[in-house]
Amino acid sequence: MKIEELRKGPHLSASSIESYIECSLSYRFSRIDNLKPEFLSDNMEFGKCIHQALADFHQERMIGTILTRDQLQERFVYYWTVRASENEEIRYRSENSFESFLEQGKSLLETYHDSFSDNTTVLAIEEPFSFTIENLPVPIVGIMDLVEEDEQENIVITDFKSAAKSYTDNDVNKNSQLTLYQIACRSNGYHDRNIILKLDCLIKTKTPQFKRYYTARNRMDEIKAEKKIIQVWKGITKGVFIPNDTSWKCDSCFFKTACNDWYRQAA
Ligand code: SF4
Repeated sequence: MKIEELRKGPHLSASSIESYIECSLSYRFSRIDNLKPEFLSDNMEFGKCIHQALADFHQERMIGTILTRDQLQERFVYYWTVRASENEEIRYRSENSFESFLEQGKSLLETYHDSFSDNTTVLAIEEPFSFTIENLPVPIVGIMDLVEEDEQENIVITDFKSAAKSYTDNDVNKNSQLTLYQIACRSNGYHDRNIILKLDCLIKTKTPQFKRYYTARNRMDEIKAEKKIIQVWKGITKGVFIPNDTSWKCDSCFFKTACNDWYRQAA
């Protein structure tokens, strides 16, 4: 089933769960009140274009073609040019511009291409999933960036990231998205397979870097995630929306005006 279909009914997703946990008031503005964001984040829009180019790269692999470095960069240039021209709401930080992202994207993808080795079989790209957990009345839906099988017949799940700096062990080991992907895999036909999780990160340092982080989740990690998700759902359905004004998100929050208004009303 397509992701648009899966998203039609009430559901949770990795990003909605994370968003609720980080600042549940922001979650309410975005996903319940459906407020239009005050602006679009330059880094987020850029990241989506990197994602699209990488998805194309692996889509081509599925039919036996390896895009050249130039072709991969061309895909990115196309996606970024279209996205930037169609979204005037993108707010560029002072150090960024359309052109700087254009050059950065090409450099990052060059690094990715240089690091690539074709030693797995692609099973799916941008694979939609849906699963349920006990005591949760709605499904959890999402998309896995890349699903592969290695020579030892392990299932390898990859999430692509573009980040300003390297990830710490804690970032990788506590990444909740990957935990959900593992549960999704087990619920959708891979319950008897060994699952390997990894983040493929393009790091936006002056000299671009590609870093691959492997990680694993055990049953206890899954149980913790499930318990947390049920509490998130209870909070949402009971109307518990609390501002987290110490969040790292506050500085670049899309709903600052609405948040200030909420405080004024609440006082
Ligand atoms: S400004 Fe901060 S507290 Fe207010 S909604 Fe945004 S993230 Fe939450």
